[in-house]
Parts: sequence; C-alpha cells; structure tokens
Amino acid sequence: DIITVADLASRMAMRQTDLIKELMKQGHMVTANNTLDADTAQLIVEDMGHSVKRVSEADVEEGLIAPDRADAALKPRPPVVTIMGHVDHGKTSLLDAIRKANVVSGEAGGITQHIGAYQIEAPSGDKITFLDTPGHAAFTAMRARGANVTDIVVVVVAADDSVMPQTEEAISHARAAGVPMIVAVNKIDVPGADPNKVKTDLLRYEVQVESMGGDIQDVEVSALKKTNLDGLLDAIALQAEFLELTANADREAYGSVVEAKLDKGRGTVATFLVQAGTLKRGDIVVAGSEWGKVRALSDENGKPMKEALPSQPVEILGLGGVPEPGDQFVVVESEARAREVAEYRARVKREKQNAQSAGTSLEQMMAQLADAEIKDLPVVIKGDVQGSVEAIVGSLQKLSTDEVRVRVLHTGVGAISESDVVLAHASGAPVIGFNVRANAQARQEGERSGTEIRYYSVIYDLIDDIKGTLSGMLDPEL
Ligand code: GDP
Repeated sequence: DIITVADLASRMAMRQTDLIKELMKQGHMVTANNTLDADTAQLIVEDMGHSVKRVSEADVEEGLIAPDRADAALKPRPPVVTIMGHVDHGKTSLLDAIRKANVVSGEAGGITQHIGAYQIEAPSGDKITFLDTPGHAAFTAMRARGANVTDIVVVVVAADDSVMPQTEEAISHARAAGVPMIVAVNKIDVPGADPNKVKTDLLRYEVQVESMGGDIQDVEVSALKKTNLDGLLDAIALQAEFLELTANADREAYGSVVEAKLDKGRGTVATFLVQAGTLKRGDIVVAGSEWGKVRALSDENGKPMKEALPSQPVEILGLGGVPEPGDQFVVVESEARAREVAEYRARVKREKQNAQSAGTSLEQMMAQLADAEIKDLPVVIKGDVQGSVEAIVGSLQKLSTDEVRVRVLHTGVGAISESDVVLAHASGAPVIGFNVRANAQARQEGERSGTEIRYYSVIYDLIDDIKGTLSGMLDPEL
C-alpha cells in the first residue's frame, strides 16, 4: 500500500508544495513523485486534521455510482437506437428524414445542429433516441470503452444493392453487443429494387426476418420519398416495449459521453446521454478524466433545458477539458470528489498507455475471464476460402462445453482488415487469420489498440491453441 505525495495532496485537496513542506518538517525529504508507505501517509493525514479512510483504488471507481435506494422507482425509458449498414445504403438519409418528420412542433424551423444524438416523438407518442453518428466506428469506439448505450440496432440494407460487406459487419456488431436488430430495407422507390432478394440474402447470415417466417422485424422504407418511416418507428417502439427498458430518474445522473469538442467561445461542449438519474444545471460532473460544473444544458435544437432525463441526449457546457466518446460521466457530491476521481482516472489512463503489453492477448483474456460467470472466448476469424472458415467455426464450436465456449463474433474471407480489428477490439477478442495476412492499416490498428492478431496455416494448430486457451479458462478448483 503506497501512495505518491502528489496523489495524497490531491486526495486531501491541498497544494503539493504545502504537503511537501509538512513532510519535510517531519523529516521526510520527498518530491511530489516520491511514494509514501501507508503508515507514513496515515500519520501525516492525521496531523493535517483529516480523518483517514484507507481505500483501494478500485473503491474510488466502484463506489462512484451509488446503488439505487431500496424504494427506487424504475420508470420506462425511451430506447436508444443506432443505425448501421453498408456505405451509401441510406443511413444518413434515414436519420435526417426521421428527424425532420418528427420535429416537435414549435421547434420546426429552428436551427437543428448535429450534437451526436437526438430524440424524437413518434406519431404513436413514443419517444425514441437516435445516435446520429452513423457507421460502425462510433458504435465500436463506445463499446470498446465499455459504454453499451445502444438498445436496438437498425440495419439498413438498400433494396437495389442487397447485402454487402458492411451489412455483414453491422450484423456482427449487433450480435457481438447482444443488441436486437431491426432490418430496414431502404430505397424501395428505386426502379428494379428487390426487397425480397435482400431478405433471402440475409438468410445466409442467419438473419431470418418476420416476413420470411423469422423473428427479426423488417420494414420496407424509402428515406428519399419518406415512405413508411412511421412503420420503422412503430417497429422500434414494439421492440422497445418487449425489452422493458427502465431507469430510475430520481437519483444523481450517470451516463455516457456521445461526443465532445472544444468551442472557442463556449469552452468544452459535450453531448451526454443520460442513462439513469436526472442531470441538472449546477451538478458537478466527472466525465472520463475531466470534470466541471454543468453551466448550461440544451437540446439538439439549441433550446435550453432545465434538466435531462434517462435516454435523453443533452449538450452541456462547463467541463474543464474534452472527454472522449464512450467515456462515462457521473454526478458527484463535491468538487473535491470530482477532482479526486478525475485525477484517479487520468492516472489509470496514463498507466494503461504506458503499459508495455497493453491490449488483449489470449493469456490476458484468460486472466480477465478467470472470475467471470459465463466463460466465453470471443474471436474474429478470417480465412482464405469460405470452406476453411466454415470448417474452423465448426471445429471451434465442438470445443465448447458447459463451462467454456468459443463465441465467433465475425467471420470473413480475405485479408484481415482494419474493421475486423476494430470489431474484435470492442469485445476484447483476438483476430485469427487462416492462410491470410493483415493489411497495413489492420496491423497498425492492432498495435494501436493492442488487439492480438494470430496467423495459422494448419487448422490443427489453430484448434489446439484455442483448446489450450479454453482449458486455461476453466476454474482451477474444478
Ligand atoms: P449512408 O452512406 O448510408 O449514410 O447513405 P446516404 O444517406 O448518404 O445515402 C447515399 C445515397 O443514397 C444518397 O445519394 C441518397 O440520396 C441516396 N438515398 C438514400 N436513401 C434513398 C432512398 O430511399 N431512395 C433513393 N432513391 N435514394 C436514396
């Protein structure tokens, strides 16, 4: 149990120089970066008139979001939806069309701005929140930071183009996140568009939509002609009802950062998505390793808000620095506490960056999984031909037992691409290449995110390695 002088000063909310002076008076010749053992620290803290509560670093983090009170009332909350799909299949058009068609009256004509998310009221009266950074990058970046904010994924497929590589990725992303899908078949206005081909093609990816007798909702729309947008909103509302989404609004707020930037005139402008509680003006928040007092709240139409409720996106001013998308924000009781948490998180971030072997190796994953309840090993598999990929998946699935299993997040034929690595990273999975290599961008992304890429040319070796990893995941006492 040791603590640096700088740390101790910040926890006591005193200046480092004052603490160093005090330590010197007591005969400790130290600088801010020296460490003190717990007993020395305790003595000095008591001398300074503070009471001592020894906590582990995890306490700082884990104690942060207080449990709900026993009598907390959970109330329904709107779903948070992400639209994904292949480039040019109409994600942006759909988001724009839905937003324009459902602007709350009185705000029509107002200047809508892109803040990363918006909430609409469907004709049925249901509220729905859309994350409006389409594409997989934002979704994955948030998931990689542990922010599972999306409740429902809408996979857009253009009826004149059908299933394309990024459609497949979108399906894999939704599955990896364990989030239900709705298929929106778009561009049905295009002459020669064939929605049925889309639905049949989807069967190859084990996506069986309702109109094909399956249980995944599908809706035919045209973002351009604004056809059946209400049908899509109804499908979302129905799925949401099924999910029974609830949150306690009556507590200090916490949630995720959707995006943030530095504005010359206004300072840090951040979009938060409240996941529980009510965020109010004057609240002291920590977001990632930044903190501040909420000076102003506004919606995506620039309209000031008094408070933001669960699932509501809100733009806030007042943070001292710019947090990153996917960072968690939390309201704390005092500025001292905010500073302490922010510094703690900043230090953890630095340590992570400094760590030599950052990222996910199979060995680290075993360690992480050592005390997880369900032990599964996520993997992304790329191979040279479809036949070998299928053979590998089949063999890996046979390795699974009641206690451990391989979870195949995504498979594909061809070189390992950057998006394979990004997808793997979000779930802490390695990428396995069979008779294929990673391209330069994929290798860079692998190094940057610390995602392991393993190459094999003999199926037996591959299976053997995974078998070894799985047996390492078994409880030692079993
Ligand atoms: P994204 O890359 O998925 O965000 O796709 P966009 O929304 O940028 O759309 C790509 C192109 O398809 C644009 O030129 C859109 O105008 C067009 N587009 C989108 N939706 C429709 C539609 O329903 N019908 C037709 N005909 N064109 C559409």
